[in-house]
Amino acid sequence: MTFPPRPYTGRVIDVHDVAADTRRITVEIEGRQRLPFGAGQYMNLSVAGFEGRPFSIASAPHEALLEFHIKNSGHKNGKPGLSAHIAETLKPGHAITLEGPLGNIRWRPDGASRPLLMLAGGLGIAPLKSIITACLHGAGHPPVHLYWGVRTREQLYLDGFFRGLAKRTPRFSYIPVLSDEKDPAPCRGGLIGHAVAEDFETLAGFSVYMAGPPVMIDATLPLLLHKNAEEDYIFSD
Ligand SMILES: Cc1cc2nc3c(=O)[nH]c(=O)nc-3n(C[C@H](O)[C@H](O)[C@H](O)COP(=O)(O)OP(=O)(O)OC[C@H]3O[C@@H](n4cnc5c(N)ncnc54)[C@H](O)[C@@H]3O)c2cc1C
Repeated sequence: MTFPPRPYTGRVIDVHDVAADTRRITVEIEGRQRLPFGAGQYMNLSVAGFEGRPFSIASAPHEALLEFHIKNSGHKNGKPGLSAHIAETLKPGHAITLEGPLGNIRWRPDGASRPLLMLAGGLGIAPLKSIITACLHGAGHPPVHLYWGVRTREQLYLDGFFRGLAKRTPRFSYIPVLSDEKDPAPCRGGLIGHAVAEDFETLAGFSVYMAGPPVMIDATLPLLLHKNAEEDYIFSD
């Protein structure tokens, strides 16, 4: 199912700093409309005076409020970008324009019988959180394995959320992987591609969703193919 993109007016309901440089915002669409989208898609966000930018939707389609995770990209030539404006200035009650939904990394419930391997690098966790929440919401979900790679443990801003979910959800596993910690325990160390290669004999039959920086996608893809992951079932934007 596709959802034609269109502009919406939203109101910020909550802002919460979840890490030193990352803020979670929740947004209600005007008139409490439900925005139809596929889990994993993104919206172009804009506010007056700033050029719009794409941000992944971190909430699932069945949830009432839209959630976004915004990393502050800072100022250039003394001017804040949209992400810096959102991270430093945006308050509950402020208006925000959203356009979308956009993007191809969309969870397809019709392939739901295949186990899911979710690979997130950094803020790539946002669209994968949407897909995981949507998938686990349905009855009889397939096994779901999440690997979340970040540099240091402070960047695991959803660690408690996913640990709690793994405790109460059979067939959901969560493996945080830290690349820059000398002593990563109780997390794994290194890069997520290597952790996955150690843990799985074969990835034949899996659907793999990947989101994160291009360098992480490029480093991980050959390891997945080496483990017989099928190209038609590897999804990333
Ligand atoms: C599909 C997709 C999904 C994404 N999802 C997320 C997400 O979930 N969370 C997230 O944090 N990010 C996400 N991003 C990245 C996001 O869209 C922005 O690129 C990021 O937030 C930086 O935008 P910015 O405007 O804040 O900063 P910049 O684009 O770096 O701009 C910073 C400021 O510098 C100014 N500037 C830039 N270049 C110059 C120049 N040469 N001279 C003078 N001034 C200049 C700009 O006008 C701006 O004021 C996503 C990107 C894509 C493509």
